[in-house]
Amino acid sequence: MPLIAAIDQGTTSTRCVFVNEEGRIVASAQYEHEQILPRQGWVEHDPREIWDNTRRAVSTAMVELDITAADVAALGITNQRETAVVWDKESGEPIYNAIVWQDTRTAGRHEPADKWHKKTGLLANSYPAGPKIAWILDHVEGARERAENGELLAGTIDAWLLWNLTDGEIHATDVTNASRTLLMDLKTLEWDEDLCREVGVPVQMLPRIRPSVGAFGVVRHRGTLSRVPIMGVLGDQQSALFGQAGFTPGQVKNTYGTGLFLLHNTGAEPHFSDHGLLTTVAYQRADAAPTYALEGSVAVGGALIQWLRDQLGMIPTAAASESIAAEDNGGVYIVPAFSGLFAPRWRPDARGVIVGLTRFADRSHIVRAALEATCFQTREVVEAMVADSGVPLTELRVDGGMVANDLLMQLQADIMGAKVTRPSEIETTALGAAFAAGLGAGVWESLKQLEGLVAPDKTWEPQANRDDIFADWQRAVERSLDWA
Ligand code: ADP
Repeated sequence: MPLIAAIDQGTTSTRCVFVNEEGRIVASAQYEHEQILPRQGWVEHDPREIWDNTRRAVSTAMVELDITAADVAALGITNQRETAVVWDKESGEPIYNAIVWQDTRTAGRHEPADKWHKKTGLLANSYPAGPKIAWILDHVEGARERAENGELLAGTIDAWLLWNLTDGEIHATDVTNASRTLLMDLKTLEWDEDLCREVGVPVQMLPRIRPSVGAFGVVRHRGTLSRVPIMGVLGDQQSALFGQAGFTPGQVKNTYGTGLFLLHNTGAEPHFSDHGLLTTVAYQRADAAPTYALEGSVAVGGALIQWLRDQLGMIPTAAASESIAAEDNGGVYIVPAFSGLFAPRWRPDARGVIVGLTRFADRSHIVRAALEATCFQTREVVEAMVADSGVPLTELRVDGGMVANDLLMQLQADIMGAKVTRPSEIETTALGAAFAAGLGAGVWESLKQLEGLVAPDKTWEPQANRDDIFADWQRAVERSLDWA
């Protein structure tokens, strides 16, 4: 029975999983890498360490399964998006550390922020990879000249791994990763020469943009996945949507981790937001038109639960939030605007507030309010998505660490007035890359077949209308604005 390998190269660690034909993860191995923090606001990774960890993770998982490359039908890759690497074409040595998506050194480099929104779907803030590449060229001695001479290559982490996996034969990226650079035209799906010039990245150093599902190349002979075809590549959030089988317009996935990451499948047309949401490619199959998505993220999701646990000592564990939360919030609302508010409000000046306190309130109300804050913030982003796209929400598919909390899931269904579905395989990011690769290799024949592999573990239907508390939450948000 063929297995599909997927590399999930994340912000803190690199994993390799193997998935069987039923869409189940049968083995996994993971290695963390160092977070290099040279100064405030800067975050770097060593690309060599990431490549070493990738090889180790693949080997460890294969030893666990006791298999060889002959047992592996295809390899897929998913990765932290927007993290940029520049390396020497001959030696393969990076000329600088990878600049990580969280790094803010390129903030304000291109004003105004919405300058290229209609062409790229992005905001020219500190996230996109293109300005990070340009920063490296401007700050490493001689780099710009060497790039112009064709001596250097650049790309996001997927391109770095593809190049190394193929021993320097393939310099390619997938369209979802390319859509996070500020250099790709969202409609033509090609590098845009004007954008590249303005951002300061020579086009010749960039990888070829390919569909997410299809042939990328074959793994080099040396190494444990020798000659396995690489058949799928997706950025991490897009991969989670793919792993949730979010193939139908109107489907939304929310990943509840430290922050909240929402992606809304809007179908064959890109929709541009009036509410500060990003437009991005969800996926593209070879020889087919792309599917687009709207994206919104919330800075503080599970981080609020961590804060109650670590800073306030109010709960012993994150999981205890479920049993400690009261039946209702007792009039208490928390707006966790610890670093301002992201989508859809975009208010960097906002700060956190707890409002509605009375002598009656105790920790159970505050914990309840924290769980509700996660749901209110999700509803705000979803409402913005629906308003921007005109595509109504059919269902919210959820993954991430917080979705173990059943109370939170019921609250989410109630507060949003929509069905919430948790899949039985919640490692959706890695699963998405495996799905893409297996589909590309013909292990699975259609999106429909993949949909059949995603079994819901549990669903929650709305049981009560919560518009009243949502209105009070919005009043609480007003209190958090203009505070800094
Ligand atoms: P990340 O990938 O961002 O590190 P995870 O997906 O691992 O995050 O989720 C971890 C987050 O989920 C933490 O912020 C933690 O506080 C929160 N969390 C974990 N379990 C629960 C739970 N049962 N109830 C509420 N929050 C939880």
